[in-house]
Amino acid sequence: MLSKKTDDISVYIEDQEYIANTYVMKCFSITMVLYFVTFLLNILGIFIIDQKIMQKGFIPSLFIYFVVVLITKRISLSNKRTKYFILFSVILVFTIIGVSITYHVVLVALLPFLYATLYSSKRVMRYVYILTVISTVIIVYGGYYYGLCDANMLLLTANRMQEYVSNGELLLVEVNNNPIFSLALFFVVPRCLIYIAVATVCNSLVKIVSGSLEKAKLTAELEKAKEEAENANQAKSQFLAKMSHEIRTPVNAVLGMNEMILRESREDHIKDYAYDIKNSSTALLNIINEILDSSKIESGKMEIICANYKIGSLLNDLYNMIEVRAKEKGLELIFDVDSNIPNEYYGDDKRIRQVLLNLLTNAVKYTNVGQITLKLTSTIEGEKAILHYSVKDTGIGIKEEDIDKIYEAFQRVDESRNRYVEGTGLGMNIASQFLKLMGSELHIKSEYEKGSEFSFDLEQKIVSDVPLGDFHERLVQADREDAHRTSYVAPNAKILVVDDNKINLKVFKNLLKQTQMQIYEVDSGRMCLELLKQQAFHMVFLDHMMPGLDGIETLHIIKEQKLCEGTPVIMLTANAIIGDREKYLREGFHDFLSKPIIPRELDNMILKYLPKSLCTTPELYKTLVPDEGEKDTVEWNQTEDGKKISSKVLLEKLQKKLPEINYERGLITCSGDTDFYLDLFKDFTQLPIKEELTDYLSKGKRQSYCIRVHGFKNNAYSIGATETGDLAYELELLTKESLSQEVEILQMRLFEKYDRICLLYNETIKG
Ligand code: ADP
Repeated sequence: MLSKKTDDISVYIEDQEYIANTYVMKCFSITMVLYFVTFLLNILGIFIIDQKIMQKGFIPSLFIYFVVVLITKRISLSNKRTKYFILFSVILVFTIIGVSITYHVVLVALLPFLYATLYSSKRVMRYVYILTVISTVIIVYGGYYYGLCDANMLLLTANRMQEYVSNGELLLVEVNNNPIFSLALFFVVPRCLIYIAVATVCNSLVKIVSGSLEKAKLTAELEKAKEEAENANQAKSQFLAKMSHEIRTPVNAVLGMNEMILRESREDHIKDYAYDIKNSSTALLNIINEILDSSKIESGKMEIICANYKIGSLLNDLYNMIEVRAKEKGLELIFDVDSNIPNEYYGDDKRIRQVLLNLLTNAVKYTNVGQITLKLTSTIEGEKAILHYSVKDTGIGIKEEDIDKIYEAFQRVDESRNRYVEGTGLGMNIASQFLKLMGSELHIKSEYEKGSEFSFDLEQKIVSDVPLGDFHERLVQADREDAHRTSYVAPNAKILVVDDNKINLKVFKNLLKQTQMQIYEVDSGRMCLELLKQQAFHMVFLDHMMPGLDGIETLHIIKEQKLCEGTPVIMLTANAIIGDREKYLREGFHDFLSKPIIPRELDNMILKYLPKSLCTTPELYKTLVPDEGEKDTVEWNQTEDGKKISSKVLLEKLQKKLPEINYERGLITCSGDTDFYLDLFKDFTQLPIKEELTDYLSKGKRQSYCIRVHGFKNNAYSIGATETGDLAYELELLTKESLSQEVEILQMRLFEKYDRICLLYNETIKG
């Protein structure tokens, strides 16, 4: 590496010498031309110098120049000492020749040459100046005493010019009593000054010319390198974007198929594998999305798209997304939000959400104990608010010298410590780039092993002054809303849902139970066509992948045969990706809904397309239709001694017996469906977990153990058995490395907790 660098430098210097030499050669050629012109003028009698002297000087000069060119070429190849020796000899020879022909122009022309041979060294220039003085002294005095002086020297004589020219001979007449002094005063000093001035000008000229040339060359090279780098970068970005897209499609298919396994499989261990597939695929999708974002930012294609948004719902979503992860790690999540801040703004909430999500996810990832706090305050300035966001954790912290590095793409710090933490090193880079695009900046404060704080100030236009209010109250309210979701009833609405999967149909129907809508189910494209020929519907939901006619083919026939003109047809698909929306719309669908169906999304979709005249609020509906539904919705649970017990009562009893369970959380997982929740609870108490874990432990099957305990953790969290879930999580982490002694101790504690839940559940059921 080092020698390559040295090579580069020497090649570079050689290049520079070459440039300088070339330009000096040009100077030299010009001098030659001038010299030649003088010669011609002299012949033509315009500028008169003694012919003999001219001839004497011109031909040897040409020869000397030629020799010097050759020597110069050699010099650049020789070592330093030889170089100086040759230079010295050349100057000496010139001096002697100069004396013998008394033609000092040679010396002047030689100066840039000398310069060129050693390229711009100050020492050499000093050397040249000294030798110039010496040679001038020798030329002048030598010329004078040996009778070989130039035309100007005649001024020292009594003879007139004409005499000198017509004679063609030099006749020195002694007119000066002190020639040494006169020669020094009138010849040596002025000539030396002139030579030195000419040499300096030549030197500067060469420097300027070669300098600007060098600059131009460097600029051209830099530009070329920049262009090449940009091209390479663009190719890389295009490749990444294309690859990411290509990967996303099959991963979505995997997720979709996996969803089917999750829904249809009755075997717990298969479901556990499927959960793992889901987790890994989601993580993979996140990475791919990050890469896509990063390449979009790099190619300048990322845009900030502003719209009105409510900060309450943004925070709400973030809280819901992070809470589960924080809880899984036993961390406390605090949202410390100023209740007076205005609720509605104009800005790019999608990007803000992404930035905060990155910061919060990192906080959870890099914190093992303690809490994560999101703090939000604001400063109002007229129509604008400056929102001060801060995400603080009590995690592993970042070393001071690493803080600057984490803004860079693909940069992870403290790798040895974080090697088990998943990540690409893109999150922070994306967050800071997004903030830059929004005119803000990310600040990081961190203390190693104590925790970190990431903060930024964001200016947003206020849309409405209405304050956000107490965020915690909002959260509780939102949870309650989630549990009793339905905000409308539409008893006269007729909905057709087509899906070959019976369970999907059941889920769909169940989710809309409270809306009182008339839901028709068929399990194939053909049946759908038949039904549409017989009656009209207000909305049709068509599954994508079905045996026989798939969703798209069915829709094409519907359109061809004009079976339900004007009726919204919604695609139900398990492999929806962001860009697919357009694809489905192009096929003729009004919209699409991705599976697994999220209750709120389904409600929103129906409310968007169902004629408003068909919908009413549940409250209004109750006043119009006497309430007879209450009794119907009560499900009965059979106790062991044959008695029946309602879900509501059973849940109340359980709450008393097992107060450590977070029922509210569990019910949210089940969309507030008590029956479904109790079903899940019952399944949980019947898991063969103890046998399986004991078996794996005795046989040393570490991986199977880890997978199993991971699945059990999810089961526990989903019914709200947080403490059991936490213990299982600890075991999962422990068994990621090895099956140590500690496993047995922790397992015992887990079994105790689990036994207690099973025992008390069974006691409750028995009444
Ligand atoms: P990654 O995908 O690796 O998490 P990021 O770009 O999000 O990449 O973060 C870059 C690096 O910064 C991480 O690898 C980690 O070392 C460090 N880091 C980020 N957030 C935190 C935090 N809250 N606490 C400690 N270190 C952090």
